[in-house]
Amino acid sequence: MISELQFLPVPATDLDRIRCNGHDDHGNPLVARESGAGAPLRCCLRLSTDGERIALIAYRPSALGGPYAEVGPVFVHADPCPGYAGPDFPADFRERRAVLRPYDAAGQMLDGVLAEPGTSEGELKQLFDDPEVALVHVRNVIAGCWNFSVRRA
Ligand SMILES: [Zn+2]
Repeated sequence: MISELQFLPVPATDLDRIRCNGHDDHGNPLVARESGAGAPLRCCLRLSTDGERIALIAYRPSALGGPYAEVGPVFVHADPCPGYAGPDFPADFRERRAVLRPYDAAGQMLDGVLAEPGTSEGELKQLFDDPEVALVHVRNVIAGCWNFSVRRA
């Protein structure tokens, strides 16, 4: 059931470290900029509104490691923020197309799914019917950028 899934943003401990250091874990400076509306924020799992202070950082989202654990660009709030603790699929990401990339417990990628707007939740539930699936990345369709991870609660 979808209520038994956890939706994982960039963890607060990683954000604290990156904001404190003034650069991401890959040496790129944390440069705050004023956001337009609609940047997908990987800290709070919602789209930005006009005028928020955000930053583009490089982030490696897969704690499983392995060769598939690539680094990519993500928008986060430049300053401390509430994060995301909701039990539900993040509302701002429901009506977006997405690539759902499942991984096994060793971090190897299994078959992916292209989800049309409104179908990501149902597709996720189906992916997790497979006991091999340990983690799923929800990613943007064109650039492939990671939006958030999903695992069983
Ligand atoms: Zn945030």
